[in-house]
Amino acid sequence: MQVKTNLLGMTREQLDAFFIELGEKKYRTKQLMQWVYQRQVVDFDQMTDFSKKLRDKLKEQASLDMPKVVLQDFSTDGTRKFVLELEGGNRVETVFIPEGQRGTLCISSQVGCALDCQFCSTGKQGFFRDLKASEIIAQVWIAAASFGVPENLGHRPITNIVLMGMGEPLLNFKATVDAMHVMLDDFAYGVSKRRLTLSTSGIAPKIRELAEHADVALALSLHAPNDELRDEIVPINKKYKIAEVLDACRYYLSKFSERKRVIIEYVLLDNVNDKIEHAHQMIELLKDFPCKINLIPFNPFPHAPYKRPNGQRIQKFKDILSQAGFVTTVRTTRGEDIDAACGQLVGQVEDKTRRSQEWQAAVWKKMNPNAESV
Ligand code: SAH
Ligand code: SF4
Repeated sequence: MQVKTNLLGMTREQLDAFFIELGEKKYRTKQLMQWVYQRQVVDFDQMTDFSKKLRDKLKEQASLDMPKVVLQDFSTDGTRKFVLELEGGNRVETVFIPEGQRGTLCISSQVGCALDCQFCSTGKQGFFRDLKASEIIAQVWIAAASFGVPENLGHRPITNIVLMGMGEPLLNFKATVDAMHVMLDDFAYGVSKRRLTLSTSGIAPKIRELAEHADVALALSLHAPNDELRDEIVPINKKYKIAEVLDACRYYLSKFSERKRVIIEYVLLDNVNDKIEHAHQMIELLKDFPCKINLIPFNPFPHAPYKRPNGQRIQKFKDILSQAGFVTTVRTTRGEDIDAACGQLVGQVEDKTRRSQEWQAAVWKKMNPNAESV
């Protein structure tokens, strides 16, 4: 039997080549991408501007395969979590977080992660496999489809996409880059390059390589102001030291004149990396480095060896950095009630009773406060 080509996740260039091979014109690429990503149609028979002959050819030779959604959970704060089951049975998670006019989708790039950061539940799980480009883009498709086709393409619920879910995106380089190109493509999601962020634990050579392939916002998971501490909590630091990683980030910025700074992520672990001396070391380390700092209070998970610092400690750390002139924000924890907060993603449908319906009713009530309950 002929193996069908999965067209999901293919870039514009790859689709052009596919259609040429099929004896078709390149403009089919635009039509197909619009059907799939903008009109959310994945059944070739519904693509009415394709001739019957072409639809038959596509059905015979191509597919638009999607992972199965095994759980869709809605938090009372509007956060939506999707657990997807991939071919082979592995699971990954995708989280949508609404914040005013903005809707951020946090997507995964691998099943598990090999880098074993001590504070990360994905890391503690170990590495299973890379996601394909189709599986990365499918996360966007599924989340977007949960809102239906927007009446006005200018008003899409997903405005921002961050590669901050499970996995290290730069260790699944090609699939991640291809999927990002589809996200940015005007024929598909047309996400602004300012609103697509790749977060990395600091794979220095891959950050440099990325500069040749994609112009997106870069976030660096720093988490410690010196190599000794970073070696301990982010073990990849033993291979790529802080100075080397910061240099790679500078190189990345130098390639894109519009990119002014890197986002530094810093998970705050009680009494480990949140001391006053650490804040001062951060100031020294980053004094000439163009960045803004995003502090992430640690999100606990079962058997985690760390605690979240109290509000006072978090505020103190932030104040020291802000007073030194760094734009510093503290990430508010979202979706905790559905285990969708940073670092809590493990791809498991928990044992607990399915709360979906209850939560959906609660969310509905929240959005329609004056209505009678459903
Ligand atoms: N592998 C990439 C992207 C995925 S992790 C990276 O490390 O950057 C995305 C972000 O979530 C990282 O900044 C990571 O440090 C943070 N994170 C992981 N576990 C966390 C936890 N338990 N609490 C808070 N943030 C966490
Ligand atoms: Fe992997 Fe990122 Fe988790 Fe580290 S923080 S284990 S790099 S997913």
